[in-house]
Amino acid sequence: MSTPTSKLPDRLLGKVVADPDVAASHAVDASSTASEPSLPGDFTVVRARDLGDVVAVLEHAQATRTPVVPQGARTSRVGGAMATEGAIVLNVEALAGEPQIDAVEGYAVVGPGVVNADLKRAAEANGLFYGPDPASWETCTIGGNVATNAGGLCCVKYGVTADWVKALQVVLPGGEVMTTGHRTAKGVTGYDLTGLFVGSEGTLGVVTEVVVRLQPAPDPALTALAVFTSLDDAVAGILALRRDRHRPCLLEIMDRSSIRAVQAFGDYGFPDDAEAVLLVQADRPDHVADDVTRYAELLTAAGASEVAVADDPGESEVLLEGRRVMSTAFEALGARIAEDICVPVGRLAEFMRGALEVADRRRVTIPVSGHAGDGNLHPSIVYDRDDPDSQARAWQAFDDLVRLGLDLDGTISGEHGIGSLKAPWLGLELGTAELDRQRRLKGVFDPLGIMNPGVVFPGSSA
Ligand SMILES: Cc1cc2nc3c(=O)[nH]c(=O)nc-3n(C[C@H](O)[C@H](O)[C@H](O)COP(=O)(O)OP(=O)(O)OC[C@H]3O[C@@H](n4cnc5c(N)ncnc54)[C@H](O)[C@@H]3O)c2cc1C
Repeated sequence: MSTPTSKLPDRLLGKVVADPDVAASHAVDASSTASEPSLPGDFTVVRARDLGDVVAVLEHAQATRTPVVPQGARTSRVGGAMATEGAIVLNVEALAGEPQIDAVEGYAVVGPGVVNADLKRAAEANGLFYGPDPASWETCTIGGNVATNAGGLCCVKYGVTADWVKALQVVLPGGEVMTTGHRTAKGVTGYDLTGLFVGSEGTLGVVTEVVVRLQPAPDPALTALAVFTSLDDAVAGILALRRDRHRPCLLEIMDRSSIRAVQAFGDYGFPDDAEAVLLVQADRPDHVADDVTRYAELLTAAGASEVAVADDPGESEVLLEGRRVMSTAFEALGARIAEDICVPVGRLAEFMRGALEVADRRRVTIPVSGHAGDGNLHPSIVYDRDDPDSQARAWQAFDDLVRLGLDLDGTISGEHGIGSLKAPWLGLELGTAELDRQRRLKGVFDPLGIMNPGVVFPGSSA
């Protein structure tokens, strides 16, 4: 159903994006390198400025059965924030005041539009620390992080967004403002609805305020970079680090194809014969140098051909540069589908070898990299967008990788979520009964099915 602007409540009229080019830019997210985006013919972008605007949109949407797509910074890798036919795209980036920090209670009250890096900086200015750090941290919003249960590079020690969210304010379809959770250090009253909303990808309501836990800041991290000429040795190194008494705060892997893509982008000093590079960091207060030296020794014992250890945070950043440019380096390879499989850490080698076989079989390039310390890998399936056969083979490879991850007792999404891109595969992991139970749970909050239809659940429409 279309939403003529004239039918919107008066308070929203000045918040509708009128410029067609700007509106079109709000119709797509960062998954659009995965498939050619075809814009819906009819959608309306509303940029909310406050809670009242969000309430007005959801009252109107319920009354007119209009679909709503909640939207943050549009860095979704899975088509979670894309405009759909007849929908109101409700962008909440402007709900982004200064985070309110309570250093005694150890929390911050944050608007959903606050950028992840800004929250981290605000916490740091108070000697505190907010953990989750998606690689998109300079752009993505806390609302989007909550909606996707975002992870990142330091999850291996600090966990994912769910581990940091204490309480939420959410606007439900119809406009009711609901709060979940507790600001107190503990709290077990009733079901954990905070946990339900974290990771719900905009399918239940719109997050308008987030209370996140903060903790004392760790020391500035130091990095070690290890080069391996054997993938099995690299995985042995990962397992050795996982067994260490003091968990690294970052443990990333880049395979041979990833290293080559990065070296083609700029010279980051990786040798030609490298099969894998591991990056590991330590940040334990007063023990950073000891820990990173011990990690380097463990990696050498596992068979690393070279290990470089940073002496100071500046050098640390230099060692991380190759990892940081990786996403941009991959863009240069062509169109790609960014995968997000998580397997038990002990089965990483099997997954990475399996991905190489898939790449061979489907005749596509698949650099594999990611958060090795969590078993969360991001194979990037590169294909030629102008060649329908190459595109078809890329999607076959995507399907192969999903099934490979499940065969290895993994999950089809470690951190990016399901979105619209992976919705057709959700049933493969959950099974029919669980999928049906989850659909019914959605109906409790969204009985008309207007919240982000087509996202998470395949084929759902308002
Ligand atoms: C270069 C790059 C690197 C990335 N690295 C990582 C990484 O390391 N780890 C990781 O987890 N992800 C990563 N991502 C994916 C993405 O950044 C995360 O999913 C992020 O949490 C999305 O935030 P956003 O503000 O861009 O949300 P959007 O993309 O705008 O939306 C994402 C989803 O959240 C919903 N949503 C947004 N705001 C709200 C709200 N206020 N209320 C309800 N629902 C809402 C949307 O409907 C959509 O389903 C990366 C993406 C890119 C492009």
